[in-house]
Amino acid sequence: MGRDDSDTACGDADVANEVCADPGRRQALRVLATCAALGVSGCARESPDRDERRLRDIGGIDEIEVGRVLRPNSVAAVVAALRSGPGAVSIGGARCSMGGQIAADGSLHLDMRGLNRMVWLDPAQRRVRVQTGMSWRELQELIDPHGLAVSIMQSYSNFSIGGSLSVNCHGRYVGKGSLIHSLRALQLIDGDGQVHELSRERDPRLFHAAVGGYGGLGAITEAEFDLSLNHRIVRRAERVALDEYPAWFAERVLADPASVLHNADLLPPRFDAPVAVTWSRCAEPLTVDERLIARNGDYRRDRKLIWSASELPGGPWMRERYSVERLLREREVVWRNREASLDIASLEPSTRRYSTYLLQEYFVPVPAFAEFARALARVLRDFEVHALNVSIRHAPADRQSLLSWSPTEVFSFVLYHKQRSGARADAVSGQWTRRLIDLALDHGGRHYLPYRLHATREQFLRGYPAAPTFAALKRQIDPRGRFRNRMWDKYLPR
Ligand SMILES: Cc1cc2nc3c(=O)[nH]c(=O)nc-3n(C[C@H](O)[C@H](O)[C@H](O)COP(=O)(O)OP(=O)(O)OC[C@H]3O[C@@H](n4cnc5c(N)ncnc54)[C@H](O)[C@@H]3O)c2cc1C
Repeated sequence: MGRDDSDTACGDADVANEVCADPGRRQALRVLATCAALGVSGCARESPDRDERRLRDIGGIDEIEVGRVLRPNSVAAVVAALRSGPGAVSIGGARCSMGGQIAADGSLHLDMRGLNRMVWLDPAQRRVRVQTGMSWRELQELIDPHGLAVSIMQSYSNFSIGGSLSVNCHGRYVGKGSLIHSLRALQLIDGDGQVHELSRERDPRLFHAAVGGYGGLGAITEAEFDLSLNHRIVRRAERVALDEYPAWFAERVLADPASVLHNADLLPPRFDAPVAVTWSRCAEPLTVDERLIARNGDYRRDRKLIWSASELPGGPWMRERYSVERLLREREVVWRNREASLDIASLEPSTRRYSTYLLQEYFVPVPAFAEFARALARVLRDFEVHALNVSIRHAPADRQSLLSWSPTEVFSFVLYHKQRSGARADAVSGQWTRRLIDLALDHGGRHYLPYRLHATREQFLRGYPAAPTFAALKRQIDPRGRFRNRMWDKYLPR
């Protein structure tokens, strides 16, 4: 597939190609030329409906009423929206963060999901440029026919690329760590509607701050990534002793160039016996032919298993019998893209009226692994946390992003838990969450920011000591403080 200029879907701005040889600058000029052709209206769907202005994220706990919702479907429309008035702006993708990171009361909300075109794909160089409202799943559908795969993404494919960049996500990719490691360049629109083309060479300070910047500096409209090959992968699952896990992981997984994906699960009630699952490149015949997981799959069985394991007295036994034993026993060979196209619908409860499923994540330096794991398990037991599992992953240091969650090599602990509805249950979760955040901090680690905003401001600043630098940069690029959401309103030093 050659380059596709359909990003200028709302107008024709090819004149920019003729006046500037620099591709980044040319891109910016094309956007501006398109805006000029458009006046200020742009192509955005506006939602006048009050229900649509009451935003909820996937956790379903907060409701935030924004002033307007706009769904731009071109970069020019984002520029036009930002130039249309001076007020607060919030940005949302797939809305899978869980603490109001997507919205601020009364703001103009940019729902980026309409901005979902591929800008160009270069299969020979294995590189792609996309609009960031696109989900990983949409990108997978476009690159799979070329034998290509996303290099780094989360374990599920529903998230928007802009939301993923803004949290600097990670997945199970062995040795890869945070998303910034596969990113080449991005395009950011500031509060005046100015277009910034950013990379490691071009305004690196803003580039490194925008990734993991939770929409605080501007709207990320396009991004350029390195891609990987779509290999066949085979699954191997085994039990590993907790204390031996870091050395076992280093020798058997990290050092093996065939390893592609890895995580290990700690299960209730003791959370002390990792079940390690590794997917490695192989040449064996597929056991599942599908190239990508079918859209709109039937997940009734998965959901029932999650409900039963979390509600019934024999829950842990059931999980062991139907989930863990199957993993240990059954060999599976699939395409990498199939395993990377998991759908979060498989985790969704039938209703969030009585309870909700939530995530948390803690990153701790590798030497602190076993001690932190035991302390975490103690807190979960002492507070009778309704925890479904804890998934362990590994990430090398990210010394690039300003608000890095892995300034050193870390193991991460992803806690999946169930919480009853209502403010009281949320307040109780706040107590044990702050305990866990202190534990992570005391072990030289930090908590992950896309989830509930239970951390105190002091905890946030201890975990993310570069926050004042981020705040200073925000004052430069966003002097009117337009880009807001509940997270930055709570934590950002003013
Ligand atoms: C079931 C589940 C599994 C998960 N698994 C993982 C995992 O494996 N690894 C991991 O790292 N995380 C994981 N997460 C967390 C997830 O990566 C983040 O919540 C991520 O932000 C989701 O993307 P989104 O499109 O939903 O972002 P949203 O929730 O819509 O937005 C998140 C933040 O990004 C900002 N933002 C969104 N789009 C843009 C844009 N275009 N420009 C500027 N700012 C923008 C928003 O303002 C907000 O602050 C998981 C979450 C869930 C619910």
